[in-house]
Amino acid sequence: MLRQLFHETHELFRESFRLFVHREIVPGVEKWEKEGIVDRSLFRKAGEAGFLGMAAPEANGGAGVDDFRFNTIMAEELSHAHVGACGDGILLHNDTCLPYFLSAADADQQARWMPGICSGDLVLAIAMTEPGAGSDLASMRTTALRVGDHYVVNGSKTFITNGINADLVILACKTDPTARHKGMSILVIEAGMDGFSRGRNLEKIGQHAQDTAELFFDDVRVPAANLLGEEGSGFQQLVTKLPQERLSIAIHAVANAAAAFSTTLDYCSQREAFGQRIGSFQHNRFALAEMSTELELGQNYVDAQVLALNARTLTAEDAARAKWWCTEMSWRVLDRCLQLHGGYGYTEEYPIARAWRDGRVPRIYGGTTEIMKEIIGRSLGF
Ligand SMILES: Cc1cc2nc3c(=O)[nH]c(=O)nc-3n(C[C@H](O)[C@H](O)[C@H](O)COP(=O)(O)OP(=O)(O)OC[C@H]3O[C@@H](n4cnc5c(N)ncnc54)[C@H](O)[C@@H]3O)c2cc1C
Repeated sequence: MLRQLFHETHELFRESFRLFVHREIVPGVEKWEKEGIVDRSLFRKAGEAGFLGMAAPEANGGAGVDDFRFNTIMAEELSHAHVGACGDGILLHNDTCLPYFLSAADADQQARWMPGICSGDLVLAIAMTEPGAGSDLASMRTTALRVGDHYVVNGSKTFITNGINADLVILACKTDPTARHKGMSILVIEAGMDGFSRGRNLEKIGQHAQDTAELFFDDVRVPAANLLGEEGSGFQQLVTKLPQERLSIAIHAVANAAAAFSTTLDYCSQREAFGQRIGSFQHNRFALAEMSTELELGQNYVDAQVLALNARTLTAEDAARAKWWCTEMSWRVLDRCLQLHGGYGYTEEYPIARAWRDGRVPRIYGGTTEIMKEIIGRSLGF
């Protein structure tokens, strides 16, 4: 179906981001995958080129354009260039982390941090998950206890995207450890604060260029001026921001599957077996037909949700629907595409291999498929 989502300005932006990806990201992919992290200069280059903090006010270094279609284009172009997770840190910076600063940072905090966020001098991460608390965030144990004009932070986080590169960490923690949801607050932790340290950059089965780290907080004295929003508003902030994060994951999952499908179509028309192109066996033709149908459905759903997000009408349930269905569909497509490549799909020579190993985790992060179904199921009265 013809997509109706984009206008000419979006297509111009797409062209310029595509050039950026090919100039600044594609040449680094193999090195960064081996090193387990992208060079942090990538963030500065993205900032210089105008690809960070587009939604931030112009006065603070942003573009003042709060239109998620631009974020959508960035995810799509990263997928089409087959650069795996090399741009995921940038997407997390823009799509997931920036909104906390936009909606909860006061004027002083905006003036302090927003220019660096938009220039790429301040790389962002968000730390919710702990070794003992992932899906059940309200049971987190990291505490921030007020002492005079500071909070003293103790605890640890794990699986934190951009965890090694980050300069500012949006930390979800308990300012009232006796309460569950209502005891949670958000503090901004700055690199270099005494008692804040990074643990391992975790060795994952995919997304090799993306740093995913453990963070430790040992009596970290954080100025009260680093509290984002009201004390006790942390859970509410997460609930408000997670739909955008989940939609971002869904968009990227559809784009990854669409890119893999496109290269698989080419492969199916070139590779022959038993004297015919492998795509022409009925089984494979049906597989391709099913995948193209599922991709259309996913694309249409996320496109509608992007417009809903722009119109501020995206609901938690619709974001959950987009997240679970699109990430599961993406995984199905990636696995079938790899199968159609036969043995070659299992080698690093073909982009499907990286897409497949990178494509497993979106069913888990940002809230698992099961938790998404919980959100939807509860809204149905159960
Ligand atoms: C590569 C990667 C990057 C990540 N990036 C970040 C990040 O930047 N910041 C961050 O804070 N976190 C991040 N995470 C963490 C991620 O969000 C969590 O792993 C995820 O939310 C699941 O939590 P968990 O791993 O503790 O699993 P658990 O909560 O222990 O769940 C284990 C299993 O039990 C199931 N389960 C749990 N509760 C229920 C229930 N009520 N009903 C049915 N099934 C249930 C889950 O669906 C899952 O299958 C990242 C994870 C990975 C792998």
